[in-house]
Amino acid sequence: MRNQTKHFINGEWVESTGSDTIDVINPATEEVMGTISSGTEEDLDKAVKAARAVFPTFSKSSKEQRIEWLQKIAEGYKARKEELIEVMTDELGAPLSVSEEVHYPAGLGHFKQAARSLKDFSFIEDRGRHTLIKDSIGVSGLITPWNFPTNQAATKIASAIAAGSPVVLKPASKTPFAAMILAEIIDEAGLPAGAFNLVNGTGSVIGNGISSHPDIDFVSFTGSGGVGEKIMQNGAETIKKVALELGGKSPIVVLEDADVKEAAKTALSNIMTNTGQVCSAGTRVLIPQSMKEEFEKTIVAMLPDFPVGDPRKEGIATGPLVSEDQWETVQSYIEKGEKEATLLAGGTGKPEGLEKGYYARPTIFTDVSQDAVIAQEEIFGPVTTIFTYEDLDQAIEMANDTIYGLAGYIVGKDPDAIRHVATNIRAGRIKINDAKTDFNGPFGGYKQSGIGREWGDFGIEEYLEVKSVHGLPSS
Ligand code: NAD
Repeated sequence: MRNQTKHFINGEWVESTGSDTIDVINPATEEVMGTISSGTEEDLDKAVKAARAVFPTFSKSSKEQRIEWLQKIAEGYKARKEELIEVMTDELGAPLSVSEEVHYPAGLGHFKQAARSLKDFSFIEDRGRHTLIKDSIGVSGLITPWNFPTNQAATKIASAIAAGSPVVLKPASKTPFAAMILAEIIDEAGLPAGAFNLVNGTGSVIGNGISSHPDIDFVSFTGSGGVGEKIMQNGAETIKKVALELGGKSPIVVLEDADVKEAAKTALSNIMTNTGQVCSAGTRVLIPQSMKEEFEKTIVAMLPDFPVGDPRKEGIATGPLVSEDQWETVQSYIEKGEKEATLLAGGTGKPEGLEKGYYARPTIFTDVSQDAVIAQEEIFGPVTTIFTYEDLDQAIEMANDTIYGLAGYIVGKDPDAIRHVATNIRAGRIKINDAKTDFNGPFGGYKQSGIGREWGDFGIEEYLEVKSVHGLPSS
């Protein structure tokens, strides 16, 4: 049991001013694995005060100093590798291999990338008739979701440190422990007291408190669209800058010349990795009409390659969903899908032998119409939908027929077709075949998938204000 009821405020682990706590449930066992504090507005105020107090010096720290902090954090992160992997498996339900190969490197990648990006970053630029100065934006409030405990926190924290912005982080209360390990790592890296603060608690108290706090200048939020909307409304009262990383319903466009097995593998890994709880997951598979029969046969036959089960057991690809609520939500979408489309595999209920734990059956729907609920809404579970298209223009139109625009995937060979689709999908990140992720590639959404970009140099820019100085004497 992890009973970690302290917050990290002004360089110290401190008791909450309140006594309420939140239980953290292991989704594979349905048992309480630990307890955190349900922080109060007073706790948040203390953290914001600490951040505000250090702002004048932290925002003027040198680039070299920030690079050193980021590198020390990356070293500290590597030293806690085993613990981070274990904790993410227990709090999120990610199989150990996924915690090790997806979650662990994602967090590390952001700290290393921010240090790399800073090396070439100019905080002052001569632009001919004016000089551009990039200043820290002020105090930032960071609100993160549960589905990528280290990735989401790390990208925000790394960019903020690179920009000299002190932060208050509120991690998701379903998965707080990886973020608390991050806090310990950051503490050991020697940042000045107040530069990094972590306050645990509910969205309604701490999250809401962050978005309406008059002394917070910028809110970087990752989570659902509904909460994003509230954050924008709250932030508007004090004219806060708000960055939102929201949901998606991303297309996978399978080209005529694609290898069917590769296409099926891409489609399945998109819904099976992290149990489909991935904002950028490709969950609408668009295949040429002529490929329908072969693709459907291939994807169903490939399902056993992604075994579902106990995340601590070797060889498991997909663990449980994060919570009972999430399980219920996914079930209700599968029920809707059964009425709207043809069920090719899976369905409602739990997989055989996995009655304890929030496990869902990997589910594939075909003959889905564009206006079906399961075609339009983010399900956030191991559920995919198959559509057919007649020609590439129709595929692009279908790919873009969504309120979202976070990501897009292309499987196939023809370079002209790939370029045509990649440049016409209205989304912030496109992945072609098995291309590797570049941590300097901006991440964020078009349309209702969000506002702003994270990762690398674009991520750092979010935490900066620009000032144009006209007539600056040269030094
Ligand atoms: P959520 O919106 O319920 O919660 C996200 C965070 O907001 C949590 O820390 C929560 O406590 C907090 N929160 C809740 N109510 C709040 C309020 N009124 N004011 C301020 N904060 C509040 O989302 P979730 O269920 O944790 O995560 C799933 C969603 O996140 C999905 O829609 C997914 O697509 C999205 N997501 C997006 C990205 C991205 O980068 N675009 C990445 C991961 C997840």
